[in-house]
Amino acid sequence: YRTAMTDAAPTPMMAQYFTLKAEAPDCLLFYRMGDFFELFFDDARTASAILDIALTARGEHAGQPVPMCGVPAHSAEAYLARLIKAGQRVAIAEQVESPAEAKARGSKSLVARAVVRVVTAGTLTEEALLDSRAANWLVAIGEAAGGLGLAAVDVSTGRFELAAITGATLDAELARLNPAEIVVAEGSGFDGLARPREGFDSARAETRLKTLYGVATLDGFGSFSRPELAAAGGLLAYLDHAGKGTLPFLQPPERRLAGGTMMIDAATRESLELTRTAQGNRAGSLLDIVDRTVTGAGARMLGADLAAPLVDRAAIAARLGLVRFFAEDQTTRDAMRASLRALPDVGRALGRLAAGRGSPRDLGQLRDGLSAARSLRGALAASAALSPLLAELLPLLDGHGALIDQLAVALVPSPPIDAAQGGYIAEGYDAALDELRATGGDGRRAIAALEARYRESTGIGALKIKHNGVLGYHIEVPARHADALMAADSGFTHRQTLAGVVRFNAPDLHDVASRVTQAGAHALAAEAAHLEALIALAMESAAPIAATANALARLDVAAGLAARAIEGGWCLPAFADHPCLEIEGGRHPVVEASLARAGDRFVANDCKLSPERRLWLVTGPNMGGKSTFLRQNALIAVLAQAGSYVPAARARLGLVDRLFSRVGASDNLARGRSTFMVEMVETAAILAQATPQSLVILDEVGRGTSTYDGLAIAWAVVEAVHETNRCRCLFATHYHELTRLAERLDGLSLHHVRAREWKGDLVLLHEISDGPADRSYGLAVAKLAGLPPPVIARAKSVLAKLEAGRAATGGLAAGLDELPLFAAAAAAEEEKVDALRDALDAIDVDALSPREALELIYRLKALA
Ligand code: ADP
Repeated sequence: YRTAMTDAAPTPMMAQYFTLKAEAPDCLLFYRMGDFFELFFDDARTASAILDIALTARGEHAGQPVPMCGVPAHSAEAYLARLIKAGQRVAIAEQVESPAEAKARGSKSLVARAVVRVVTAGTLTEEALLDSRAANWLVAIGEAAGGLGLAAVDVSTGRFELAAITGATLDAELARLNPAEIVVAEGSGFDGLARPREGFDSARAETRLKTLYGVATLDGFGSFSRPELAAAGGLLAYLDHAGKGTLPFLQPPERRLAGGTMMIDAATRESLELTRTAQGNRAGSLLDIVDRTVTGAGARMLGADLAAPLVDRAAIAARLGLVRFFAEDQTTRDAMRASLRALPDVGRALGRLAAGRGSPRDLGQLRDGLSAARSLRGALAASAALSPLLAELLPLLDGHGALIDQLAVALVPSPPIDAAQGGYIAEGYDAALDELRATGGDGRRAIAALEARYRESTGIGALKIKHNGVLGYHIEVPARHADALMAADSGFTHRQTLAGVVRFNAPDLHDVASRVTQAGAHALAAEAAHLEALIALAMESAAPIAATANALARLDVAAGLAARAIEGGWCLPAFADHPCLEIEGGRHPVVEASLARAGDRFVANDCKLSPERRLWLVTGPNMGGKSTFLRQNALIAVLAQAGSYVPAARARLGLVDRLFSRVGASDNLARGRSTFMVEMVETAAILAQATPQSLVILDEVGRGTSTYDGLAIAWAVVEAVHETNRCRCLFATHYHELTRLAERLDGLSLHHVRAREWKGDLVLLHEISDGPADRSYGLAVAKLAGLPPPVIARAKSVLAKLEAGRAATGGLAAGLDELPLFAAAAAAEEEKVDALRDALDAIDVDALSPREALELIYRLKALA
């Protein structure tokens, strides 16, 4: 329609529409017209389909009817929520002057409009549009000086992080944050919303950040690299765009250091289902099963903790000390959780106020939240000596006395969300305001008296004095009584005739009404001025308020973990200086919970990895509990380092620097990629990255291909993990042949899940025992699964044949024992020989000139 616009001059309204639309081309434009937001053209088609509302037309443009749909402004939030959820961005164009102002300006009928805000998934602050128990990250990826940087902000609370990343860690960081929205520089090739490159300039970003925080240097926050600053720049530029110049609240940026937390890549997160399941739901994840927090802020912090377990012994001990305090003192724990439960979400109220979208209710929430925090400090003060972290948090709960007192006298007990109607400033705060209200109140009483008087003087019992936005106060009578008032000497002036009723004015009413209206308008203005001043006052302590909100969340997390530990009979983990993983009576909390729902019991199992016995090879029948065992040990490491008790009778571990989990391809068919390829790519990443401090769990790796290939790959991977990475590893496999590796690899030990055949039926005991499994029980599992008896019988005779053959030839793994042990040097040697052989194969002897032959000899020599 752009070209059409230039040919056939558009109406002034359409011209204004196109100008606004050009400001936010990647958004749906909400164009304010009276009580509605209207959408036009393709925007209308898209929105009407998503919202399931009627698509109509309005006027014509370039000879075509203009598609249109609209939503009522007062309920716009609900529609916005659905559009955002559907992946749209929305630009809000408001009327920024009244029709009277437009007229005074000389514009005949068109009021000025401007895009006042761009609503996107990553920049939300509204309670109604956010999940109270999940963070909402906006992420920008920046590039500078040959490196990558990531900036992330949760606009709803102002949390702001910067990190230097690499191509290899980008996915892991994104998986940790699970961002609602990602912005990238145009032409960078990363997935996300492409934004102009200028925004991602590191030098400009540095200046901008200094101005924002009023500092001469950023060193106080951390020494940020060029790529981190570039990312921050892109982020700020996008926030400017979305907020149309009003920047949301940004706490000083925290620098996330590479290696500052346990490294967990995207595939591992998905396979362990730490904060959401493979299907993307919170329900059924580790987070969901552990979470006993009672506030949204606590739930958000716990999610962040589990997504990024610590690697610093002291920091972990501090968190665990606080959990232990709450675990051992039930009275304090219960009392504190009861007060936390009633607490408003201070962090998010602050976020809304700082973004300029705050309401009187948000101020009320600050008042209530901060004063509850102050009382909590009092209640906990006596326990400060019991936990160093508690002693550190307590002072953060206090220090807002002046603000709380001010808000307490200024605001009514439960201030409204909508400031437009006034009524949120308390009586007695401002004498002038009280007087205006009294005048208004007197006036309203006078109007009621007038109504009675008019009824009496006219004898019309149905006469009423009403108020609306167009006529203001007026007298309304049923049409059949109107004649008496129409008379010229009645003292009433006719204003409006509607079906059934006629409306009038009268001099007495006019006088009283204008007094009421004026007092009302002045009162509203006075309240608005107070609101602005109170918000400004609160914003002066934005940073300490955010710190209080954080401290409250930390207390909630710790008390929730304590409650969970007691509920589940969990233990306090201990840490060792060497890379071990010693678990007694370990359980998988998610599987245990789902078994409990069905009335079944979980069988607890031990695990004992040490530098000498660092690789456990676990065999046994399908459905025997191998995967569950592997995962429960990884989850215990995550929980312990996140600062939680763990589902075990006893647990001791050396810190895990990197955690890897891989599942053989056939469990992942639903992903619909070349699954074997994916499996191998992911396994390659482990071999490249795992250190002796890492924990690796490999579940049926190699299964995604033919038996021989699969066995060969599994064999080689076990050898490499054992010899080269030398990490702690649990490896589940159904290849019995692998058990032969035990004779050759010192650090490898054999274990199996126990099963028994009883009266021809298979009984899975879900118990881990030492030694290899005696057999595979494949047929018994098939029977358990309901394969028809004739098929089972037939399979039995086929198996007998195969086993006889295997005995004769030495079996599937015949000859493997003679292989020299895997070693990096040997593999490199083999590669060299291959290269030499390939080069020799490629020679066409007859086509070589003597000179070429000489060069070739030099080349071959270099390859050797
Ligand atoms: P595998 O990996 O050996 O095929 P899984 O770990 O997937 O077996 O376990 C199969 C099922 O067995 C689980 O879904 C669970 O219901 C049950 N199970 C596993 N481990 C245990 C256990 N320790 N105690 C009780 N039931 C278990």
